[in-house]
Amino acid sequence: MRKFLKSLNIARDEKMMRTCVICGKKHDCREYTCSDKCHEMFKQKLVKEFGEYKIVVDMVTGKEHRVPIADIFEKGLKQEDLKNYPVVVIGR
Ligand SMILES: [Zn+2]
Repeated sequence: MRKFLKSLNIARDEKMMRTCVICGKKHDCREYTCSDKCHEMFKQKLVKEFGEYKIVVDMVTGKEHRVPIADIFEKGLKQEDLKNYPVVVIGR
């Protein structure tokens, strides 16, 4: 029984731990990375891979907003945040 409880504890701990996406170190913050240094690198990597901005469509207004990729990953994007970002004008 004791052993069983112990394994439960380990499982819970593992759930709380995250692996840093940059250096692979285990950490327990809610971020993707373990430190400010890795965080900066992570942002740079994102921009390099996905571009500096992402076009996100507001489901309510149907408007397209240009959102910095770093904001999406750092804060997580909410519907109500979209209005704070510039609307993309389509057409020529
Ligand atoms: Zn790291």
